[in-house]
Amino acid sequence: MSRGFEGRPAGELSQEAYDKAVDWITTQWGTSDCPFHGPTDWYVGRVLAEARSYGPVAGFSNKSVYPFIVVTCTKCGYSVFVNAIVAGVVPSTQPAPLTASDIRELADRASRATPS
Ligand SMILES: [Zn+2]
Repeated sequence: MSRGFEGRPAGELSQEAYDKAVDWITTQWGTSDCPFHGPTDWYVGRVLAEARSYGPVAGFSNKSVYPFIVVTCTKCGYSVFVNAIVAGVVPSTQPAPLTASDIRELADRASRATPS
């Protein structure tokens, strides 16, 4: 069996991370209704899912992935993927997003580097 995050089976959340995921979803979702039939109970999966970048891959180790918490309606099975980085359940391995100021600075640098 492959080992993943913090030595558990790949994708399995610790109790602390699981509790954090449930708390985050409970506080962020404005409604707990299923979009297909209304009131329901949701099951929060204890194993993360992932979506990989599309296209041919030379090696799996360099592949970018989006980690997701899977939340499933217990009546109809409709499932929602919640980004586990946004929820604070797993750390981001990506640099922080660029701010508007960063983008202006990059544009300014690019314009200065362009030969006239
Ligand atoms: Zn449903």
